[in-house]
Amino acid sequence: MTDILIKNVDTILTMDDQRRELSGADILIRDGQIEQIGHGLQASAEIHDASGCVVTPGLVNTHHHLYQTLTRAVPGGQDALLFGWLKTLYPIWSRFGPEEMFVSAQIGLAELALTGCTLSSDHLYLYPNGARLDDTIAAAAEVGLRFHPTRGAMSIGESDGGLPPDSLVEAEAAILEDMMRVVDAFHDPSEGAMCRVGLAPCSPFSVSRDLMRDTAILARDKGVMLHTHLAENDEDIAYSQEQFGCRPGQYAEDLGWTGSDVWHAHCVKLDGAEIDLFARSRTGVAHCPCSNCRLGSGIAPVRSMRDRGVPVGLGVDGSASNDSGNLILEARQAMLLQRVASGADAMSSREALEIATRGGADVLNRPDCGRLAIGKRADIAIWDTRGIESAGSWDPAALLLAGPTRVKHLFVEGRQIVRDGQIATLDLPRVIERQNRLALALQS
Ligand SMILES: [Zn+2]
Repeated sequence: MTDILIKNVDTILTMDDQRRELSGADILIRDGQIEQIGHGLQASAEIHDASGCVVTPGLVNTHHHLYQTLTRAVPGGQDALLFGWLKTLYPIWSRFGPEEMFVSAQIGLAELALTGCTLSSDHLYLYPNGARLDDTIAAAAEVGLRFHPTRGAMSIGESDGGLPPDSLVEAEAAILEDMMRVVDAFHDPSEGAMCRVGLAPCSPFSVSRDLMRDTAILARDKGVMLHTHLAENDEDIAYSQEQFGCRPGQYAEDLGWTGSDVWHAHCVKLDGAEIDLFARSRTGVAHCPCSNCRLGSGIAPVRSMRDRGVPVGLGVDGSASNDSGNLILEARQAMLLQRVASGADAMSSREALEIATRGGADVLNRPDCGRLAIGKRADIAIWDTRGIESAGSWDPAALLLAGPTRVKHLFVEGRQIVRDGQIATLDLPRVIERQNRLALALQS
């Protein structure tokens, strides 16, 4: 692979251990890693002049349901609360198959790449009509993003008092068997891995207590991470109190669902004791501010989580509840929402960007990503600050205040994924056409 030299960057926001910001500096990439960062670097390499640009680590998305890009802005789901929203969408999702999973993942990942993301997790918890986790892994390999797919699951259908229709749930033995299959087939524990698999029953209200516990045991046995939805809104808390006689934090702890190998999506309604539990156990949180706004779930206590030491990353959540997958705007929303809750000094642009990069990488146990330093992976976003969004800005590096919302260039493991604002790895117009054809077919 040719070396790459990114030269004359206006500002590099390194997110390294000292949170250094470098002016007029260069970055040399070799074999997928950052070889050097400094001034006046020389090398026989492919040169990218980045004057007029801000460079950040690639953004990290810790929660998504890529398949949902096929069900954006569905009438009936546009203005509903969580449980009503799910009941509108389940029958539509039950008509998906492998092609829907593959194409919707290509669209979702391409949208993330264009908005600065280099590493995304995905939570796929329904497998109708022969769909498999393999379909999304194939899409990620094609787009070129670093990928942490999770093998989700639902096992309690309507006839057993659950929320999803019976046609969308699986038998628990089959779920565990397929979890083992995908970990053995795709999980790469090595540094610099492009694919790591996690295990992720959908939520405490769609699987049994046994499956939660068995999944935790299996994950520890295989050395993979655990992920689910937790404490998303008031309905979620009420369900936990009624069905389990405790709050979600207690339920998670009882079943082995706390620890540095676990991260939970949303956590909007965690109370003080639960935040302390997460901090103590190093349990991670995927904060999804747009989805929380869209579904009226509330404002997650991120300021308090960060102050007490809970690892927090950012997630766009599925496109049926966002409905955008723009990760840099998600970071802006995180900043704004904490200010709504706690005042204008509650979160700076730089802190929100740190959550979106280094924070997310730490939640996913990827200390090799999310920061720009020698020896770290070459996952790099280049933002052109000469456009209209930044015109007149006194601090172009405050990207979330005034800045572009799409990257100029994007590198993953040293490979260029976005070039001059366009996806370099896909024929995107063709994929969009295919996606719209599939969405139309689902409507008829
Ligand atoms: Zn979700």
